[in-house]
Amino acid sequence: MKGIVVKSTGSWYSVRMDSGEVMECRIKGKFRMKGIKTTNPVAVGDVVEVEMNPDGAVINRIEDRKNYIIRKSTNLSKEAHIIAANVDQAVLVVTVNHPVTSIVFIDRFLVSVEAYRIPVILVFNKIDAYSDDDLMLLGALTEIYEQVGYTCLHVSSLTGEGMEDVVAALKDKVTVFSGLSGVGKSSLINRVEPGLNLKVAGISDSHDTGKHTTTFAEMFPLSFGGSIIDTPGIRAFGLIHMEKTEISHYFPEIFKRAEDCRFYNCTHIHEPGCAVIQAVEDGEISESRYFSYVNMFEEGDEKYRK
Ligand code: GDP
Ligand code: ZN
Repeated sequence: MKGIVVKSTGSWYSVRMDSGEVMECRIKGKFRMKGIKTTNPVAVGDVVEVEMNPDGAVINRIEDRKNYIIRKSTNLSKEAHIIAANVDQAVLVVTVNHPVTSIVFIDRFLVSVEAYRIPVILVFNKIDAYSDDDLMLLGALTEIYEQVGYTCLHVSSLTGEGMEDVVAALKDKVTVFSGLSGVGKSSLINRVEPGLNLKVAGISDSHDTGKHTTTFAEMFPLSFGGSIIDTPGIRAFGLIHMEKTEISHYFPEIFKRAEDCRFYNCTHIHEPGCAVIQAVEDGEISESRYFSYVNMFEEGDEKYRK
């Protein structure tokens, strides 16, 4: 019997079977990934084979992953934690204000997702709460990111504005949701799929009975097709095996320009004949994106390696 892992809490795995039934399973044997040590052998989104043993349901095989997203572990063993596998796209929920999502944070997130070759959509939430200045910034950021090629949606999970665009973007896809705490990620998901009833900040705990309060990644089916993976408490995805000279590959507009640099190994920081620096001066590459690139580059490769 085949199914998809929708939740994992350590030794138990919830698997949604093809029939729709969710089974609690254990794993049998050791599953190891080549070249990377992980704290969890099976991740949300994994397609698995389940067998029934006398003492319960057991996962005995994991299908090859189309892709996966990891988080670096903070422990000394340097093991990585697989946040999710087999995702079609990522949604980054951001806010221009209440709270401010910094541009550097957005660009770092985009680099990590580009490195996984996962398409990403930027959803600007709380447009109902923006001042005129906030709306100006919203317009400027949207122009910058759309020019690079990212889809930008403007929504309010409070009023419901723009929600049909979110639904259209999620339909029939597996989407992993991310965003700083407080940007309204849970509120947005609840708007899209009211039955999920995810916990929203500011609602007192006494009213929370029966709500999802997990701190583990969890996959939820969408009634209109597709599913979402919520990643509570995970602000950003980890990067693996990235040298600092590789960072520019994950800024699509910089990577494209780099073809015209005088030196094939141009870092676009100080070299003469750098087409990237020229494009920034000509206003063809945004200064804020270039600033984020320099910022990440100068931090050195150490931080961006596993
Ligand atoms: P999360 O931490 O990203 O999951 O954010 P929550 O969904 O818990 O929301 C954080 C706070 O922002 C709560 O007080 C929400 O009521 C509020 N909020 C969420 N979406 C909106 C929105 O579109 N407009 C406004 N004004 N407030 C929102
Ligand atoms: Zn260059």
